[in-house]
Amino acid sequence: MRLLRPSDLTFSFVLAGLVGLVAAVLLGRFGLSPWWAFVGGLFLVGLGARRSLRRWRAVRRTFPEPWRDWVRVHVPLYRRLDASARRRFERDTQIVLADQRFEALEGIEITDELRLSVAAGAALMLHGRPDWDLPRGHTILFYPGTFDDDYDLDEVATYDGMVHPQGPVVLSVPAVKAGWARADGYNVVLHELAHLFDFEATGADGIPSLMDSSSIKAWQTLVREEMRKVKLGRSVLRRYASTNPAELFAVSVEQFFERPVRLQRHHPDLFDALVALFNLDPRPPEGEEDEPMAEDRPSLMARRWSASDDA
Ligand SMILES: [Zn+2]
Repeated sequence: MRLLRPSDLTFSFVLAGLVGLVAAVLLGRFGLSPWWAFVGGLFLVGLGARRSLRRWRAVRRTFPEPWRDWVRVHVPLYRRLDASARRRFERDTQIVLADQRFEALEGIEITDELRLSVAAGAALMLHGRPDWDLPRGHTILFYPGTFDDDYDLDEVATYDGMVHPQGPVVLSVPAVKAGWARADGYNVVLHELAHLFDFEATGADGIPSLMDSSSIKAWQTLVREEMRKVKLGRSVLRRYASTNPAELFAVSVEQFFERPVRLQRHHPDLFDALVALFNLDPRPPEGEEDEPMAEDRPSLMARRWSASDDA
């Protein structure tokens, strides 16, 4: 992620220029100094630069050692990065923490661990794409447990996470913790963030908004084929992936970052497409220990997503 986003800067300069011009003409008519228009323009540029300033302040802070420990333990890719790439990962995490709004239902303490669980997930997904950003305008809202279609808490409810195009990202705290506990291909944070990238351009159609337009046709064909495999029980992706192309993409993203070797082995075309999209290969070097195989896990997510992971 960049500290200074060219789009922010261009927008604020264009806005400041237009407002300044109109103000200068009006001030001139009333016999006032047009220099006030210049001051107003500068003020607008300053407003536009707020996000960059906030990011700059965030990355100047030392990355706390307990945070580093958390990332080291929970994000295998981070452990394999060299020093400068690790620093970039940490900076991206700090940027997300600075940009992102976190809220929770009453009774939940928004701990560093919870915030890191989301920020490190975003840093992981964006690591190969320094020019990308997490889509804006989505508050992260923590729930104490699973919820239903009306966002009501319910022990037998089926949702661990949900995101709407113009709304918050709702995450169940136990599911967030379970998602990072093991590299087993279940990660509600990566799943819901993947949906965010899907929403940005054309809606939740399973086509990531940042995908190269020349790759979209091949991607759609690939998704159709992968959904067919899931339905036939010939996929390492859990059955939930066959719900629609958007879920296929989100479930694939979980597998890609958590169990890349397995995904590559069973679905090389899907794996290659995700390597191209995220511009990184999350597999450990050959000969090194692969992530552990999935085992039955008494997870809340298992209730929502009928697992077909051992297929
Ligand atoms: Zn989903």
